[in-house]
Amino acid sequence: MEDLKETIRLRCTFCRSHEFALPYAGYSPSAGSLVVCANCGNENDVTSLFVVAKAIGISIAHDHVDKLVAEMKNELIKSFRNSKFIRIS
Ligand SMILES: [Zn+2]
Repeated sequence: MEDLKETIRLRCTFCRSHEFALPYAGYSPSAGSLVVCANCGNENDVTSLFVVAKAIGISIAHDHVDKLVAEMKNELIKSFRNSKFIRIS
């Protein structure tokens, strides 16, 4: 089983750019503040960027879980293929 490793990058709501003009390196915007898009110059509300990123993260996690469940089921079917007593459908 592989680990789930996905990087979710924040995206400008206006131009979909991943580049933001941050005031200094390592700047971590707090909820409710604004970040300026380095591409189009529009201000993005950090809270809504996080909401979008979280939704993307949840859907990636769901897909991953579905895949793991399918893999586990295949393993079980393989393990118990010759068993008269255990049937997996
Ligand atoms: Zn932009």
